[in-house]
Amino acid sequence: MTQVNQEIMEKFQPEGIFSNRWHGHDICYCEHCTRNFKTATGLELPKAADKLDPTYRKWADWRMKRLREVWSVWDAGIRKQKPTARFIPNGFPDKVMTGKEADLFFADQQARRGLMAPWSNGKGAKELRSTLGMKPLIGIFSVGIEEEFRWKDSVQSDAEIRIWVAEGTANGMRPCFVKFGVTSTINAGWKP
Ligand SMILES: [Zn+2]
Repeated sequence: MTQVNQEIMEKFQPEGIFSNRWHGHDICYCEHCTRNFKTATGLELPKAADKLDPTYRKWADWRMKRLREVWSVWDAGIRKQKPTARFIPNGFPDKVMTGKEADLFFADQQARRGLMAPWSNGKGAKELRSTLGMKPLIGIFSVGIEEEFRWKDSVQSDAEIRIWVAEGTANGMRPCFVKFGVTSTINAGWKP
């Protein structure tokens, strides 16, 4: 990844690299994770995500430290090429550490689902604001529906989007919208 980041920085000189789903999906059993966890703790990787299992809890701590290391290595590489640029992780499990380490942060709280209260976007913003101080906090919101079965090509009502974004903005987030599925319309009459 360090080399991939380097190539992106060289070719496009972006202001930063925002990485979605960068922290993997639960326990990874690849040779690197197996070896690194063994070296750090002397243990084999836990067989399942069981919070009552002491090995799993050790894994969760180890993972947090490991992610922080990875963030730090990638960020340092990017800054070396462009001092004002940053690696921006999409989400980090520890909000206190996020507030301490990040120079800016993107909160991926795209919309309501189920019985979630409309003000919960503001609550999330307030929590991050309390750890980030006055550093820039960006609130990603989605135009589409975020229910259990996310329909990213959809569009919600004005009122739904407005209250969600207003809550985030009122609690110190800068709004940033995402809309999926636009290219299919744009490309409909376009031939390369
Ligand atoms: Zn792995």
